Amino acid sequence: MYRCGTLVHAFERRFGSARTLQCSSGMYEDMHVHSTFSDGKGSLEENIEAAKAQGLIRLGCVDHVRRDTDWLPSFVAAIEEAQRGTEIELVSAVETKILNANGDLDLPVDLGGIQRIYIADHQIPLGNDCVPPSMIRRMVMEGRETALRAVHRTLIATGRALEAHPGSVIAHFLSIANKIRIAEEDVPLEWIEDLAEITAQTGSAIELSERWRCPGARTLKPFVARGVQVFWSTDSHRPDRIGKYEFVPEVISELRSMSTPPLHSSPPSIPSPA
Ligand SMILES: [Zn+2]
Ligand SMILES: [Zn+2]
Repeated sequence: MYRCGTLVHAFERRFGSARTLQCSSGMYEDMHVHSTFSDGKGSLEENIEAAKAQGLIRLGCVDHVRRDTDWLPSFVAAIEEAQRGTEIELVSAVETKILNANGDLDLPVDLGGIQRIYIADHQIPLGNDCVPPSMIRRMVMEGRETALRAVHRTLIATGRALEAHPGSVIAHFLSIANKIRIAEEDVPLEWIEDLAEITAQTGSAIELSERWRCPGARTLKPFVARGVQVFWSTDSHRPDRIGKYEFVPEVISELRSMSTPPLHSSPPSIPSPA
């Protein structure tokens, strides 16, 4: 089994390399799809069928949780059961939102065997709480807030969440920027680099989201330069969306053109036969 999910693979699939020759051409993944355990339309089994039809070899089974979520044991058991019936590598994960500036997460205390936590910026830290993007927009209009300040607090909180939960995945990074009317390119690079550093140090990963069309190549570059794993994801809530990409390969292509030395030499997670 090869290790997937790295930008390395993305490049090799698209542009080829000596390593590609060792890999099957059907090496694809979708690391973020929802099921009927939360707000997805497809059951776990339907999602796996859809992934199979797309030729995926790795599937991130991700569902939304809150502190009071009580179905995690059956979720994990269902994935383990499904794993016995499929060759697709299944990864069990939960998507949780940041609750405050400390980076506390809306998570059950007992994660019961879940493999990954996806940390999402669905809301923006404000004081001891988090507020929806619509409230930040209103505050910006009223001159009580700036969008940049709000983004900065979100990045700081994300970093703190990663430090408390090493090995997590930053979900649809900076999707919040668009929601509060700030261009991703206007987020200062040094803030992104600070977070990329924490991501690398905590052994965490970042996703490249088809659904949210973020982050872009400029944002991803500091992560890739530090060897952070990049997960390709659609964030599908319907089986027929699983494993279908347009935006993601464009970003990979752009990243490649920006990068020196070649990106495939930098990540430590270069795929190799296990
Ligand atoms: Zn989300
Ligand atoms: Zn999601």
